[in-house]
Amino acid sequence: MQIYLLIKSLLEYGIDKKVLNKYDYEYALNALLACFNLTEYEEVDDLEPLLTDLDEILDGMLNYAIDNKLIDNSIIEKDLLDTKIMGCITPMPSIIAQKFHTLAKSNPEKALNYFYNLCKDVNYIRTSRIKKDIHYKYPYEAGTLDISINLSKPEKDPNDIQKLLSTQSVNYPKCMLCKENVNYAGRLNFPARQNLRYIPLVLNNNEFYLQYSPYSYYNEHAIVFSKEHKPMLVDRNAIAELLDFVNQFPTYFMGSNAGLPIVGGSILNHHHFQGGKAILPMENAKEEFIFKQNDVSYYALNWPVSVIRLKSDSKDKILDEASYVFDCWKQYSNPSLMIINHDENGNHNAITVIARKKDNMFELDLCLRNNITTEDRPLGYFHPRSEYFHIKKENIGLIEVMGLAILPSRLVEEMKVVRKYLLGELLSDHEITAMSHHFDWATDLKLKQEITPDNVDKVIANGIGEVFSHVLEDCGVFKKENHTQFIDFIKSMKKEND
Ligand SMILES: [Zn+2]
Repeated sequence: MQIYLLIKSLLEYGIDKKVLNKYDYEYALNALLACFNLTEYEEVDDLEPLLTDLDEILDGMLNYAIDNKLIDNSIIEKDLLDTKIMGCITPMPSIIAQKFHTLAKSNPEKALNYFYNLCKDVNYIRTSRIKKDIHYKYPYEAGTLDISINLSKPEKDPNDIQKLLSTQSVNYPKCMLCKENVNYAGRLNFPARQNLRYIPLVLNNNEFYLQYSPYSYYNEHAIVFSKEHKPMLVDRNAIAELLDFVNQFPTYFMGSNAGLPIVGGSILNHHHFQGGKAILPMENAKEEFIFKQNDVSYYALNWPVSVIRLKSDSKDKILDEASYVFDCWKQYSNPSLMIINHDENGNHNAITVIARKKDNMFELDLCLRNNITTEDRPLGYFHPRSEYFHIKKENIGLIEVMGLAILPSRLVEEMKVVRKYLLGELLSDHEITAMSHHFDWATDLKLKQEITPDNVDKVIANGIGEVFSHVLEDCGVFKKENHTQFIDFIKSMKKEND
């Protein structure tokens, strides 16, 4: 494929998607030539048909770069180059921020929509990769759980791993969420971000930025991060920031991971939230009304993780009550349930918070968490038991607490072997090793039902779903059989004179 035709195709794609302004055409053209070390542009015959599919255009460009020894044929190097290419047609951050805020003044949803589509069009959100992710539902007693196997995070190839060994460590940007990521060229051990854009926001008088997750675990998966690189802090201010966000953008939920290790998210060193335009299973969990005080209603959710839901039409009052619940939880201990709020290792009680605004009512889900460790459960007493690690070992953060499992891509290949095993097919030595950590689980599945070629896929899917439901149950501080104690804890927060 002729490189000039590819360049022209990309420029026309940009114009067509309205990310590239016609007055920036030659500016972008020369930037693209530089990506391929070209010093001149040959006009393409108008009769020559252009490519319109972005993946085809980028594939053509990457192949050109590999053939001309501009890059090695490795996933990391290809990602670095195609991001640099897309950066050439991505508008300057200030242009996007201005347009976003102009739209948001009259219609916040339209502003989000504009920004989300832009992030897809400039391939920051790699839609074609995300399409490969596996999604299905698992029926569970407290509501249907969403199971997803994430295939869009690229796996490193052996070439890359070799190169990474000799890569020097650099401390810039400080983390994946820092504002310094914008337009960063990347390196072998850090992604390129020439097509990353974010929008400045003010939440509760503090400066934040809104961006999207490149992996899009659910619809319009957004990330809001503080301007400053500072540790996650879940306190009254954080809850106020979440409430301010949903007040400004009521079509999105916004939540914060707990601020302690084990029960927190994967990034604890940069204050941030996650949200988006999605209804995750927990939102639909059955509510049990407990009482109302200060115009705020308290509910217990029928959910494997212990969740207190607050509702009120007053942003200030719900903030007061949430902060009060948080304080009460920090002081709560119940040694018979292994809920110990504090010991020589520090504080253990924490909260995962999710905020929503529906029909002018504010809603806060306060998920009670505890990160204590014991000799038997060194990774966390309220953490998945080791017998479930073959499916999920990572922290159970905000998204999973809400009932959406994000499972590792390795499961796809491993389940092909499990499938053969369940059907009684002969396994090679290599395959036996590959499924060894699933062996007990798979044997159990086999004992529970008759497995046929017709039902085997369903048996595996449901088996994974069932493991995820137990993972959530393990994270619950008040188990189902301790429901009375959970309700007693909520009732203990009722103030006498109200
Ligand atoms: Zn940071």
